[in-house]
Amino acid sequence: MKNQTEFSRKILSFYDEHARELPFRVSPKPYYTWISEIMLQQTRMDTVIPYFNRFISTIPDIKTLAQVDDDLLMKLWEGLGYYSRARNLKKAAQVMVNRYQGELPDCFEDLLTLPGIGPYTAGAIASIAFNKPVPAVDGNVIRVFSRLEAYGEPAMNAKGKRFIHTAVEKVISTERPGDFNQAVMELGATICLPNGAPLCEKCPVASHCLAFQAGNPLDFPIMPKKKERRIEKQTVLLVTNDKQFLVEERPEQGLLAGLLQFPMKSGHLEETEVKSWLEDMGYPDAQFKPGKSAKHIFSHVEWHMVSFDVTISSSRVRELSSNLRWVEAEDLEQITLPTAFKKFRQIMWSRLLDIV
Ligand code: SF4
Repeated sequence: MKNQTEFSRKILSFYDEHARELPFRVSPKPYYTWISEIMLQQTRMDTVIPYFNRFISTIPDIKTLAQVDDDLLMKLWEGLGYYSRARNLKKAAQVMVNRYQGELPDCFEDLLTLPGIGPYTAGAIASIAFNKPVPAVDGNVIRVFSRLEAYGEPAMNAKGKRFIHTAVEKVISTERPGDFNQAVMELGATICLPNGAPLCEKCPVASHCLAFQAGNPLDFPIMPKKKERRIEKQTVLLVTNDKQFLVEERPEQGLLAGLLQFPMKSGHLEETEVKSWLEDMGYPDAQFKPGKSAKHIFSHVEWHMVSFDVTISSSRVRELSSNLRWVEAEDLEQITLPTAFKKFRQIMWSRLLDIV
């Protein structure tokens, strides 16, 4: 890019004029930058703000986070999805307590060694919280720079990211690197838009933009072909006795690892299959009938779920296998269930209203 100093000056003055007032910018602390960046990884800003405020008022610092009760942590994260992010926050906080006196390390390489912190987040923390001139390359930055440079190869793979990283390194402000990175992200979020045409007529750096000059910004970034989402059929059991409901723990690995759910099996099961599933649990006399269905979309998978309403007489309550447990009816609001089960939670709630 030509006129790098001018580019840097223009984008910083754009930021000074247009930066949104966000809770983690108003009173910046490295801890706030870290938490907000992790929350923002797969979630929109508007959604994150109330979660962020609740999180830091409950867990105000790294030492508290290192010792936080897992259930409370999951509760604070409930609805944000990608729960491994929350688990990694606690693990990283424990490393910081043991290795860095309970503080975030200030250098990119040390940040990269912490659980849940990849190159983007390390760059964001190093630049925003510690003023280090390190690029923070996220989807917005890739889009903006692949248009600025009219980068003619796929931009989201390792080679593309390296190209963008180097392009940012060449122009990043050494005086205000954190503001520079945030300015590019802000430009990507508000002007150089991801869906639909960018607002080039309002862009402060249009004169530096090769795609704009060639009249084809929408051709960038070059994306790989999208894979179709995999559809997985599931059958969910909504099981109650006269004072409790049944939940199951998901496996420790994979999607929604270790979280609770209503008992679930792959496939849309026939009633005979549901009967033998209940028999295997030890409930051959359970009463059941088909219930509502629901759909949940993850990034690569869609769950198409059908359900059965199951009633078990309390006299039949028995020892369960280790991943199943009965929960008291009044605790339905307290336990953490992934958003995928939101509809079933409401159904369970109306069934339990007769009990509590
Ligand atoms: Fe994006 Fe248009 Fe600005 Fe180029 S001129 S960076 S395409 S908004």
